[in-house]
Amino acid sequence: MSEKAGDARLDMETLVSLAKRRGFVFQSSEIYGGLGGFWDYGPLGVELKNNIKRSWWKAAVQERDDVVGLDASIIMNPRVWVASGHVDTFADPMVDCKECKKRFRADDLEGYVAAGAQGQAAEAAAMRCPECGGELTPPRMFNLMFRTFVGPVEDQASTAYLRPETAQGIFANFDNVLTSTRRKLPFGIAQIGKAFRNEITPGNFIFRDREFEQMEIEYFVKPGTDEEWHQHWVEQRRNWYRGLGIQEENLRVRRLDKDDLAHYAKDTYEVEYLFPMGWSELEGIANRTDFDLRRHAEFSGRQLTYYDEESGEHIVPYVIEPSAGVDRCLLAVLFDGYREETVRGEKRVLLRLHPSLAPIKVAVLPLSRQESLAPTARKVWELLRPHWMTQYDDSQSIGRRYRRQDEVGTPHCVTIDFDTLKDDAVTIRERDTMDQVRVPITGLVEALRERLGGV
Ligand SMILES: [Zn+2]
Repeated sequence: MSEKAGDARLDMETLVSLAKRRGFVFQSSEIYGGLGGFWDYGPLGVELKNNIKRSWWKAAVQERDDVVGLDASIIMNPRVWVASGHVDTFADPMVDCKECKKRFRADDLEGYVAAGAQGQAAEAAAMRCPECGGELTPPRMFNLMFRTFVGPVEDQASTAYLRPETAQGIFANFDNVLTSTRRKLPFGIAQIGKAFRNEITPGNFIFRDREFEQMEIEYFVKPGTDEEWHQHWVEQRRNWYRGLGIQEENLRVRRLDKDDLAHYAKDTYEVEYLFPMGWSELEGIANRTDFDLRRHAEFSGRQLTYYDEESGEHIVPYVIEPSAGVDRCLLAVLFDGYREETVRGEKRVLLRLHPSLAPIKVAVLPLSRQESLAPTARKVWELLRPHWMTQYDDSQSIGRRYRRQDEVGTPHCVTIDFDTLKDDAVTIRERDTMDQVRVPITGLVEALRERLGGV
């Protein structure tokens, strides 16, 4: 019935335009010209985002017997960021172009030079502005944390930071969670929340933004069992992306070279997706050892240990950290689901979203705007609304309305026609196969639930 129009992959520009046109993602404060690295999620975007977070929480917390949740504050005591190392080391080298005044990350440019020539450090002084070829300032370090002030006085003592990662809220609460839940090792604490990084060069749409959302687990284990648990989490997390329907050929897990590890990490894997700009990180899964708990114990003066009944000793657990980006995951899901097909000589755009992620699960479409159909169609809509996110659409031809739902990934459309008035039955039309089946209204919720796989 349908054929694929080749493997032409979607480019970033087309996706950004679709995302805006259909209400997934808007530029933040667009009416004022926007603000670099900040984005807003529209009516369909917020549903998709919530569905991704719900799916993660289900896999990370609800379905496990060894992980509990947390929601820590975004602004914390600034000493947290001294202990974590962010105040001293969370910085990128920055250069400015003396001609066009644009600002760049120097390490991006070095890569740029090295890719074009065989140059190493010797060429660094010869780096030129990639935009205009102008002369660059010497690199200087720029801390990526957003600073603010707590209380009415703006001085050094009141300086605080918007958290650059959610992880530290978990470490700071290690003892609270341990005491209140009486957990035994190994156990994890999971959190979803906003984080902020003042990136020098944000880009690639919502891939690298300055305000973003993380889904992180800190999984505490006995030292010596950390490598085994690291492998466990790499597998778990890979399977989660597979379960969202991400195509195998666009997904890979890569172990980082020792040289690329963060200062706190013993070993790190990255789950990567093949975006138009190349393989890029969706999630890092790091073995953070006991670095964070030791640092916080040292800086806070509190004992952050676990009493091991077997050995009768207080130990500092090691930590495995799967850390995923919500916005990046959403971007991958959009790219991965996008299809262009030719059906009976006509192009149709299709978002093949997993039913659990689809922003709208069911669209209710009266065949025409004829008044006789409206009361029944509205009754069907009312019947479905308590169960799923739905949409009612009675404008334009039925064919165009199917296309509109295909384009935003709605798995099922329910059509009310003139026969419905006689036989109390409606037609369910499936997104991917475009198959249609007639079902009685009394069995509609059950029939849809079965087709949606319980979501
Ligand atoms: Zn320039």
